[in-house]
Amino acid sequence: MSGVVQQGASLKKQGLLLKNPAEILTCVPVGSDLIGRNTGRSILIEGSKIIAIDSLPVLSENFNLSGFEMLDCTGKILAPGFIDSHTHVVFGGSRVKEYAMRMTRTADEVRAAGIPSGITASMAMTRLASPEELYITAADRLRRMLAHGTTTVESKSGYGLNLENELKMLQVNRMLAGAKDQLPHIVSTFLGAHAFPPDVEEQDYVSEIIEEMIPAVVEMNLATFCDVYIDEGFFNLDQARRILLAASEAGLLLKIHADQYAALGGSELAAELGLVSADHLNYTTKDTMQRLADAGVIGVLMPLIDFAVRHPQPFDAAAMRSAGMQLALATDICPGGWTESMQLVMQFACRVHGFSPEEALYAATVGGAKALALDDRGAIAPGLQADIQIWDVPVFEDVIYRLGSNAVVDIVLNGRRFDAVRG
Ligand code: ZN
Repeated sequence: MSGVVQQGASLKKQGLLLKNPAEILTCVPVGSDLIGRNTGRSILIEGSKIIAIDSLPVLSENFNLSGFEMLDCTGKILAPGFIDSHTHVVFGGSRVKEYAMRMTRTADEVRAAGIPSGITASMAMTRLASPEELYITAADRLRRMLAHGTTTVESKSGYGLNLENELKMLQVNRMLAGAKDQLPHIVSTFLGAHAFPPDVEEQDYVSEIIEEMIPAVVEMNLATFCDVYIDEGFFNLDQARRILLAASEAGLLLKIHADQYAALGGSELAAELGLVSADHLNYTTKDTMQRLADAGVIGVLMPLIDFAVRHPQPFDAAAMRSAGMQLALATDICPGGWTESMQLVMQFACRVHGFSPEEALYAATVGGAKALALDDRGAIAPGLQADIQIWDVPVFEDVIYRLGSNAVVDIVLNGRRFDAVRG
C-alpha cells in the first residue's frame, strides 16, 4: 500500500506552467510602459505564488518543467486578476423594480407608487435574509465576477444597520472568504455608517457604531477596513471623524464614500487623516484633489454607478490625474447598480473619462491593490500572488473595444486553474 501512495505522491505536480502566451501584461511599469508589456516569456507558479517569468529555455535550465502542470497559452494574453476595491456585493432581495421604474420616472414617483427604494429598502430585505441566503446570492454574483477576471473583491456590510445584522453581513463575508479556490479573495469592510436606520436617533446610532459595533467587529476579527458614507442626509463630517478615529484606534484601516452628491469636506478629512482611499469624488475640488494626491490617498472611481444613477456630475478623472492622484477603478456592484464586469468598468473609464487603455488596466489591478492596502497582488511578478486572467483576444486593446463582451477564457486563482464559466 505504501508503494502505491508514494507513486501517487510522485505524480503530483508541484505547480503550474503558463506556457507561451502571445503577451504578458505584468502591470509592473517599465519606463513609459505603464503595464509592462512583454512577449516570449512563460510564467511558472508554485503553490499560490508566481516563482519565475522567463523564456522557456531559461525556465528549463533552472527548473524541471516536467514536474509542473502545463496550460498552453499560445495566442492568449495574460494579465493580473482584477482587484475590485469597492463593492456592496452582499445584500438581500432585489431592487430591480425600482431600477426599472427609474428609467422613466423620478425617485419621488417611484416611492409614491409604493416601491421600496434606496438603502433602507435593501436594509429591510437584508435583515430578513438568513446568512445562508445572503451567502448563496453573493456567491452567485462573485462567481460571475471571477469569470470576468476579478480575483479579489472588497465586500462591505452596511445593509444591516444594527449590531446583529451588521455582524451577520460580516460573517457572510467570512463564509465567502472561506470558499477559497471557488470564489475571489474577499477583503471585508465594516460599513455600519452607510445610512441611518429609521426609528433610531442619529446620535444614538453613531454611539452604537462606536461603542458596540466597532468593538464587536474587531473582537471577532470580522473586517480589515471601516468605511463611512459622508453626504447630505447621511453622515456629517463630525460624525464621520468620530467613527473613523474610533475605528482607527481599534486597529481597522480606513476608507470613505466622499463627495458623491455634495462636497461636505469628506475628501479633506480623508487627506487630513491619511485614509487608504476616498471613493466616488464627484464634487471634489481641484485643490482637494491636490491634497489627496499629496497625502497618498487613493481615489476609487466607479464609472458604472455614475451611469446607473445617471449622475448629474460624473467624476473628473482628468483633473485627478493632473493633480497626480493615484486612481483605482471599481464596480460598486450594489442593489442600485448591478455591475459584475471590471472589463465594462474599463470600457467606460476609457470612453467616458479619458483613461488610456493602459491607465484603465493599471487602475483596475495595481490601483485596486493599493486601495485595499495589499502589496502581494495586482501585478505579475515573482513572489506575488498567482491570480492571473487569460484573455482570448488578438491585442490587449480589444478588451476596451469589445463593449460588454468577456475576453476571459481561463482564470488562475491562488495558483490553480479555475474553470471559468464564460459569462
Ligand atoms: Zn459604495
